[in-house]
Amino acid sequence: MPHTATVTRFAPSPTGLLHLGNAYSALYCERAARRRGGRFLVRIEDIDRGRCRPEHETAMLQDLAWLGLDWETPVRRQSEHMADYAAALDRLAALGVSYPCFCTRKQIIREIAASPSAPHGPDGPIYPGTCRRLSAAEREERIAAGQAFAVRLDVEAAATRVGPGLSWTDRQAGLQTLNAGLHGDVVLARKDTPTSYHLAVTVDDARQGITLVTRGLDLFPSSHVHRLLQALLELPTPAYEHHRLLRDDAGLRLSKGGQAIGIRRLREDGIDAAEIRRRLGFDGSD
Ligand code: GLU
Repeated sequence: MPHTATVTRFAPSPTGLLHLGNAYSALYCERAARRRGGRFLVRIEDIDRGRCRPEHETAMLQDLAWLGLDWETPVRRQSEHMADYAAALDRLAALGVSYPCFCTRKQIIREIAASPSAPHGPDGPIYPGTCRRLSAAEREERIAAGQAFAVRLDVEAAATRVGPGLSWTDRQAGLQTLNAGLHGDVVLARKDTPTSYHLAVTVDDARQGITLVTRGLDLFPSSHVHRLLQALLELPTPAYEHHRLLRDDAGLRLSKGGQAIGIRRLREDGIDAAEIRRRLGFDGSD
């Protein structure tokens, strides 16, 4: 049997400084590659130009290096690959599984509030499908009039297109039967950014030859979306391993928001990298 080397990636969004939760994720990912004699990549997920900053990227990479991590260069920066995402978007449009969505956030909230039985996904109520029901003529008219639009996946059409029987594997949770509609008609391209998290991640994991995606359990449901997009775009499906989310003493998730504990701060407080690795459960003997 041909042997496929393991390739993993740590994919932070440079919206702030590296915190303990990121460090855990990065160390987990690097260890997964190292244990299998594989390759460890870093990818910068900076499609959100409003929130991502080059200085955060620089600081994050410095902190990762300080933690003792070593990755292949150059790193892939999503903002430099918009043409790849545009090509994938065109392909999905050609398959008839996407549509323009003109709704504003406010309209969506209003519509959901008006329909108490609105279906919920892992992140709350799902998009009610308003623009899916527009006629082709109406779409064209609104586009011609210069109305801003996002692009959404028509999940029902997509599920019909790929057919039943798709699955993906999480190394801990086991075989998962595809739940295509879990997140509803997800955004593939935003009004202000010609791609979305789901589309860019799916394209990049394939482009980079990722064979094992490790990331936090909060993204477990997203893997259903990614599996569906892989099938539509005829891309390979990596294995997945969703790890626990690190919580601080207050039981709060370690995000870049209020409660996050930055590696920078711990470093300035005189804690060394080996100590941080040990605290996070990576003691070097693995
Ligand atoms: N960029 C995402 C984050 O920082 C991670 C995406 C992924 O690992 O698929 O949460």
